[in-house]
Amino acid sequence: MKIGFIGLGNMGAPMAANLAKSHDVTGFDTMAAPKGLDLADSAAAAAKDADVVITMLPNGDILRAVAAEIHPAMKQGAIHLDCSTVDVATARAVAAGAESLGLGAIDAPVSGGIGGATHGTLTFMAGGSDQAFGTVLPLFDIMGQKAVHCGPAGNGQAAKICNNMILGVTMIATCEAFALADKLGLDRQAMFDVVSTSSGASWSVNAYCPAPGIGPQSPADNDYKPGFAAELMLKDLNLSQMAAIAADADTPMGQAARDLYAAFVEDEDGRGKDFSAMLPRFEKRHRS
Ligand code: NAD
Repeated sequence: MKIGFIGLGNMGAPMAANLAKSHDVTGFDTMAAPKGLDLADSAAAAAKDADVVITMLPNGDILRAVAAEIHPAMKQGAIHLDCSTVDVATARAVAAGAESLGLGAIDAPVSGGIGGATHGTLTFMAGGSDQAFGTVLPLFDIMGQKAVHCGPAGNGQAAKICNNMILGVTMIATCEAFALADKLGLDRQAMFDVVSTSSGASWSVNAYCPAPGIGPQSPADNDYKPGFAAELMLKDLNLSQMAAIAADADTPMGQAARDLYAAFVEDEDGRGKDFSAMLPRFEKRHRS
């Protein structure tokens, strides 16, 4: 397959490198120029001969601008596969724009982070037609270990932000409970041994324990270097609240998690730290 790959940052560069082992990949980025990849002079040039154009961009506004540039340049029947994390409304608008020009479209945000992008073990949550999903499935198999077809356009983004809303809320609940346990004189290993095998268990405790030296290896064991940075969690919680407002859904825990991560990132030196660094934040705090 001929592939155009636009957005060669922390995630896009290793994803494009994995595809380039078995496909003809032409990349474009306004800033980055990773070695070992054929690069075009513009997004439209990277897109024009491609069977599939993948975008991996920072946000929905940039995605809309890039889509407006590449869609008219793409060949009939080609597919725009967007793997960025953006708002559901943008994903649906970009897909509708593509389809109106005779193109296919899939929104497929990922989970798995930079490690997953590098090792080809991402999980894709995809929205779009069965036909377009079938065409890009072999590419998901190269870049990832799992792809779930969640329904029509936008449903990949919907799945991603609902999942990450649960993650943000459970991570905060886990961190505040560990900090409370400290103050009650409970040993952290005992706390982990109980919670990880009891009804308080979750991915945040069992797979990504925010307490250093406890449970499996996690960013807590590496001075809270990300991992999954607090500002990326804040981005996803902002997207889930935007979606909740648009859909008239009541999401008080999602809102509380958003507000706590906003304070952590913007006012409390949390930027650049892993999202599990909420534990040392709670450790230092008192009730008022
Ligand atoms: P990044 O900032 O490292 O990369 C984005 C790239 O897009 C940059 O290289 C930038 O120069 C480029 N870019 C910006 N505007 C452009 C334009 N108009 N044309 C071409 N290129 C342009 O970000 P990232 O960490 O690679 O994340 C990409 C997406 O993946 C985001 O939507 C993010 O939310 C999502 N995501 C990231 C992670 C992670 O752990 N980093 C995990 C899951 C999902």
